[in-house]
Amino acid sequence: MKTSNKIILPGGTIGMVGGGQLGRMFAHAASSMGYRVIVFCGSNNEPAAQVAHACVVGQLNDLAAVEAFAGQCDVITLEFENIPAETIAACQQYAPTHPSATVLATAQDRLVEKNTLRDAGLPVAPFAEVTDLASLSAVSKTVGWPLILKTARSGYDGKGQHRLESIEGAKEVDWVSQPQWVAEKFVRFDREVSVVVARTVDGRTSTFPVFENDHANHILDITMLPAAVDEKVEQRAKEIAIAAAESLGVVGLLCVELFVKGDEVIINEVAPRPHNSGHVTIEACHTSQFQQHVRAVCGLPLGCTDLVCGAAAMANLLGDLWPDETTSPPWDRALEVPGINLHLYGKQHAKPGRKMGHVSCIGSDRDQVVAAVKDARCRLS
Ligand code: ADP
Ligand code: MG
Repeated sequence: MKTSNKIILPGGTIGMVGGGQLGRMFAHAASSMGYRVIVFCGSNNEPAAQVAHACVVGQLNDLAAVEAFAGQCDVITLEFENIPAETIAACQQYAPTHPSATVLATAQDRLVEKNTLRDAGLPVAPFAEVTDLASLSAVSKTVGWPLILKTARSGYDGKGQHRLESIEGAKEVDWVSQPQWVAEKFVRFDREVSVVVARTVDGRTSTFPVFENDHANHILDITMLPAAVDEKVEQRAKEIAIAAAESLGVVGLLCVELFVKGDEVIINEVAPRPHNSGHVTIEACHTSQFQQHVRAVCGLPLGCTDLVCGAAAMANLLGDLWPDETTSPPWDRALEVPGINLHLYGKQHAKPGRKMGHVSCIGSDRDQVVAAVKDARCRLS
């Protein structure tokens, strides 16, 4: 297995497993810093493949293709956590791969993730493992109603989640579709925030400012900066994020999603990669999350994460805004809004709930920049 503290300097080649929008924005950042980026993904038309220097097309379980990709890289990273362990093992034969297979195994399974964080002394909402109606009925006495039932594996953007008020609702759940579920206490939070932390092989860390997030239908809708939390909560959120990155052994980025309730800060979930809530850093911070990801996996000095503005906001553009699968909304109307930045991911087909792009705005007043991104988005429908 290739592990090394060697610094990969600009001019080197970074491998990116995954061809989505996170890989695309990573490729933008890495190439602007002088790296070559090779993407491994399912087709050369995927968002990241469109902008990378090269692309190796293959399925994740096609280990010959994975090796052809990995053999060209000085270091390898990824943009989503559901990558089979053997794929990462194949990558590691050729180049240091961050985050590691161990980190991924933890992040792929909500139960393992929650147990690991709880065992590290970090705050998570009360939860229990369930497999069927009878086990839910048993654990509901300790977890309490209402609760959120989540699939242990392969859920994202609220997929595979049910909010349940009582055991009655659980009768509708398609229990056999998944072998393992997590029953989690419903947290009546004041707000949701997230912290992106970067960590290098030699253990250096750096956090971004705390982002405040509004969700709609369990999908991130708006990110706002600065978060409306006091200094104590902000400090606590950053400490938790750093402790989570250290206890999981993450190299690269870790996003920690948190619930804030009064002074209490509780971890919802973690993701060992760039995060949708961090897109706002492209314009709002001296170093974006994508540049920081490059710096972290290449062993470079971590960049300054301070805000370059007083306030910033980001609004997601979901496929619902598209008149039909292939007809675009009126971009020129959104771009009339002063200060608006448009980011489109180059996806060929729009579907409801699919993340197609985002708009952002920076300024001095939070209400104003939030109004601007909402206005820009409104003009699209
Ligand atoms: P995903 O992996 O789909 O992002 P999350 O666990 O982050 O799943 O859940 C998505 C959203 O659903 C959260 O951001 C939050 O708004 C809501 N949610 C999830 N779990 C809870 C909970 N225990 N209490 C209250 N709201 C929750
Ligand atoms: Mg989430």
